[in-house]
Amino acid sequence: MMTSSRFSRPAAVLLLWVLVIGCAESQGPAPVTNYPDFPFAAVETSVDRYREESLTTRRFKPADLAPLYAALGGGFGVDTAGTSVEGRAIHRVQWGSGPTEVLLWSQMHGDEPTATAALFDLFHWLAGRDDGLDSLRATLRESLHLTFIPMLNPDGANRYERRNALGIDLNRDALHLTSPEARVLKGERDRLQADWGFNLHDQGIYYSAGFPGEKGCVISILAPAFDWEKSMSQKRTDAAQLIALLNDRWQEAVPGQIGRYNDDFEPRAFGDNLQKWGTRTVLIESGGYPGDPEKQEIRRLNVLGLINGLHAIATGRFEQYSVADYLEIPENESNGMHALILENARVERPEGSFVLDIGFRIAERTLPPDNRRYTSSAYISDLGDLSTFGAFERVDLDSFRVVPGRVYPTALGANAIRDLDPTALYRDGYTAVKATTILPDPPPTEVLRVLTPSGSISRDIDVGNPADLLIYDGADRLVMAVINGRLRRLGQ
Ligand SMILES: [Zn+2]
Repeated sequence: MMTSSRFSRPAAVLLLWVLVIGCAESQGPAPVTNYPDFPFAAVETSVDRYREESLTTRRFKPADLAPLYAALGGGFGVDTAGTSVEGRAIHRVQWGSGPTEVLLWSQMHGDEPTATAALFDLFHWLAGRDDGLDSLRATLRESLHLTFIPMLNPDGANRYERRNALGIDLNRDALHLTSPEARVLKGERDRLQADWGFNLHDQGIYYSAGFPGEKGCVISILAPAFDWEKSMSQKRTDAAQLIALLNDRWQEAVPGQIGRYNDDFEPRAFGDNLQKWGTRTVLIESGGYPGDPEKQEIRRLNVLGLINGLHAIATGRFEQYSVADYLEIPENESNGMHALILENARVERPEGSFVLDIGFRIAERTLPPDNRRYTSSAYISDLGDLSTFGAFERVDLDSFRVVPGRVYPTALGANAIRDLDPTALYRDGYTAVKATTILPDPPPTEVLRVLTPSGSISRDIDVGNPADLLIYDGADRLVMAVINGRLRRLGQ
């Protein structure tokens, strides 16, 4: 049930409105749901100005955030809520003086940083002024008390790994609380008796919004279940209504690309338990967006969603939405997308000629020593009828012939590899070249596959293989190449 203090301000606003309108128009009943509008266009225009410019990629580290905490000005309370297994500080940021307690945490999985960057953008936005949005900030400040724990898992973030230094998935440690990081989160929830919780994650980029997969899932949301029966309490209902409100606005930015996460009860997870402990909990998962490998556009959508959501909590505006609105959001589908699908590719084998679809996905490998860079390697993710999958890029080959590329016979140094004319090599059937020495990542070119001196590449078109392909049209002209999962169209 809602506490009376939580909505004292909205109730006062509503009462004031009733009095004002009551004086102006004496006839007819007043509408019962009059919530202040959210100035979405103005907020959308404003957020880029408040972006934390030092964070531009996903692999930032706890040490990168230390000066940002130090620079947060008046209005923010910054301290340490605890320390990680390896002794790194887990920071806590507080803002606002209102009665409604909102707890927001990010990056409990160390390789899920998008919302952490968004929280720093949000801090700068909250500290902003004289941009026409001061009354909105005043509403937030007077209604809410915000407690943020960005980067709950700093040890995992330092390695860009999901789990903490004990190898524990913090999102399965809500009951045993073996990890100090999990105890920090539970302790904050209990200390605050948080009314609302925002559980901020990243998910894989190959989720689709709905099935059959058509569009990728840019953001997934969930009001987690608190029991096996997936019961809807009043508080879970509130969370679902808030999500419906967020979805409404996000749909304008990325139509058809918001998904609802599976709500099977996970008794060890934090979201499920916070809901059980009495905190209205909203899960936000940043997914994939074509052409945005560092997820900077999704980061922006996070900021917009958080400001929108906090305003809705402050004003009670989420009550305009229903659980039915929430349930209309399509369920997301893991592995519903591929990076690239070649439809109707003709593959020649000793047994004959077969026309099939070929899907590619791309795997990332984080590079030592500092885990700030990574390489991407593509592999064949599926073969056959892929019509139920979406793809970031899709081309119908109309039975064009695909041929796996071969390795250039001479090993070369890095500079010589850089100087190669890839199209000339493709015409001779080559897609890969061996280096004379082991070269540091990233490779000197992306338009040929660069192998180690002893490296080789499978020429089998098979699931899991990193095949590179040359594509010939009906007149047997070379028209395209797929190198490391990237489609290149070749001029005639
Ligand atoms: Zn996660």
